[in-house]
Amino acid sequence: MSESDKNTALIKNLTLFFGGFLLFTDVFFLAMGIIYDMPIIRYVIYGKLVINTTNIYLILKKHYLISTVIIYTVILGFMITGVVCMGIQPAFQLYAVGMPACVSYFGYLHKRVLKKELSMPIIIAIHVACYIGVYVYARFHDPIYVVPRSAIDIHIVFNSVATFGIVILFMFLFHNIAINSEEKLERMALVDNLTGLYNRHYLLAVLDKLKTESTESTENRWIALLDIDDFKKVNDVYGHNCGDYILHDIAVLAQKTCNDCTICRWGGEEFIILSSRKNYSTEILETLRKKIADEQFRFEGNEIKITVTVGVSYYDENLTNDVWISKADEKLYLGKSNGKNQVVV
Ligand code: GH3
Ligand code: MG
Ligand code: MG
Repeated sequence: MSESDKNTALIKNLTLFFGGFLLFTDVFFLAMGIIYDMPIIRYVIYGKLVINTTNIYLILKKHYLISTVIIYTVILGFMITGVVCMGIQPAFQLYAVGMPACVSYFGYLHKRVLKKELSMPIIIAIHVACYIGVYVYARFHDPIYVVPRSAIDIHIVFNSVATFGIVILFMFLFHNIAINSEEKLERMALVDNLTGLYNRHYLLAVLDKLKTESTESTENRWIALLDIDDFKKVNDVYGHNCGDYILHDIAVLAQKTCNDCTICRWGGEEFIILSSRKNYSTEILETLRKKIADEQFRFEGNEIKITVTVGVSYYDENLTNDVWISKADEKLYLGKSNGKNQVVV
């Protein structure tokens, strides 16, 4: 499922959840309207039941924008009805405080996925106005129904749990969006698109970290600079797409062969392999070199032979990372001038 499909499914599920949640509150308030004999609440709920059921149908038909607007209007409308009928003590006005959390989330989703703007400042201004408005109304009007204290307590608990539930749910959803986006950005910044390997920035960060933080023995630590031989010719003869394909395949081979090394695409057709493992020698590089030389790379009906040259440099704490890498580069150069297709330690 693509990212956009996932988000559209999320909008649908959330709007459905909200529509279902409204139906659930309808059942509760209808029961209260019957038990405590509040006909206005009952009649409003009958109307709400019709609207909310129609709304579920609208959601299933993918009319998310109109159904979102209906949901908010219904919630605010019922909040006002609740205050007019029972006063401010049962805490219906909490809905005006809790709703902006989900309004902003729906606003975000509509903009991001459906590319439609929900007019957030206007919606939030309406909520604030409703919140203050009901207090002003209650200051000058007595509630229509006088209900026992127990009825008020039940409403306070229900309205508070519902509002806190809404706020917590939407805060949690926002939190997840923020974490997922940051992780995605981090991955994009540190991973090479073509090969799926780490990039140069990642390796440099790892090397810096190893230098400053590492307490483990460094005597087994080495880096290898691997460069594809005569790669320019591959591009010239078989095309750039073929070159890309081979870069990707070599990355896969390297990962399979040196699966506990850190491997990065250093740039162009050069890779750096880093290992700190004990009991793990550079023989692995010879294995990798042979595997690549023996592989038949196939692209658009062509069979292509590829070789690589590798320069290895052991760690020396007196060297800066730049010099350490340039020592591997010197070894690589030796291998290139000595006929290529070899590992130089
Ligand atoms: P040598 O054996 O001396 O390394 O020769 P070479 O041809 O591999 O070396 P050179 O540095 O002259 O050429 C490297 C080539 O790698 C040049 C460039 O077109 C190609 N290359 C670099 N990055 C990419 C890439 O992302 N995709 C493709 N297809 N080719 C790339
Ligand atoms: Mg090169
Ligand atoms: Mg090359």
